[in-house]
Amino acid sequence: MLKAKPYVVGTSLVFLLVAAVVWFAAKPKSPENAFVATCGHKLREKLCFVDRHGVAECNLSESRFDVLESKLLAIFEHSPDQVQQKLCDIGAISVNYPSNGIEPWMGAFTNYKVIGINMFDWFNVGVPFERPAHAYLTWYPTETGSFSIPNREKIKVKFTSDSDFQVGLNYTLARSIYHEVGHLVQADLRHDPFKCISAPTQPTTLPFANASGEAYCDQYITPHQNHTLLSKLQKSAHVSYYASCTRYEDFAETYASYIMSNLMNRNIVATLNDETIYDQRTHLGNPTVRQKFKAVANIMKFALDSTKNKNKLNRSLENCSGPFEQN
Ligand SMILES: [Zn+2]
Repeated sequence: MLKAKPYVVGTSLVFLLVAAVVWFAAKPKSPENAFVATCGHKLREKLCFVDRHGVAECNLSESRFDVLESKLLAIFEHSPDQVQQKLCDIGAISVNYPSNGIEPWMGAFTNYKVIGINMFDWFNVGVPFERPAHAYLTWYPTETGSFSIPNREKIKVKFTSDSDFQVGLNYTLARSIYHEVGHLVQADLRHDPFKCISAPTQPTTLPFANASGEAYCDQYITPHQNHTLLSKLQKSAHVSYYASCTRYEDFAETYASYIMSNLMNRNIVATLNDETIYDQRTHLGNPTVRQKFKAVANIMKFALDSTKNKNKLNRSLENCSGPFEQN
């Protein structure tokens, strides 16, 4: 019988131990473990279902929540620190039974730190990003409801060729989550987030009518626009038509757009009869949007996990000092 010499066995054990440690360290964390490591709890605990009577049930084990959970975990993994922190702090991400049965609704309840996802969005988590991007560019809010550009189907929307693409990442859901997180971030601000920007924020290029009565928006786009509305948007101070609705939507849309475009490199162009009528890079590079992006980037530099940190951000914003300093 071959007898291993003690020091050989010892060396082998040490080698195996080192190999195991290296393997564990190099082993990519699963998105679920990454969430637990950052947040200290499972995302699933915060996933809730709100039924038609408004009753919420959380930490659901049903497998129909698996797809949504995996999409949200992937989004979490690719998100900047501040978004991760907000998603850790969140009271609930609730799938809501739609009040009118069809309305594709998503919203943030800043007082409860809750993000609501409509069932329509939940069932459509696989929709490719180009489709909602097409809708963002060809539907616009008017006081009497949404209007669309005539022959909108002739307008083609596609990603620019240099756009990165993370397989398995749902950009449609990601953009919606970032918009709602933008509302949660804004709830921590005591000042206009664009207070310190020097460029004029008053849009002059979108055809607006002031809202009357109990309207949701402060201003609406006047009805019966054609495809030239896209080039007006490109020159405007707003990242989308919806951003022009209120200053809250302006921040949430700009926050989402900054992450999608600058951090995830997702940019789109729209063409009509092979002619480019909208280029998102040109749009987001215009002087006012660039200044708004700078403000969002500065807000993102702050951790918002304590009152002390929130105060620090608010002081900088109030005095336009620190990262908000004007050059
Ligand atoms: Zn919103």
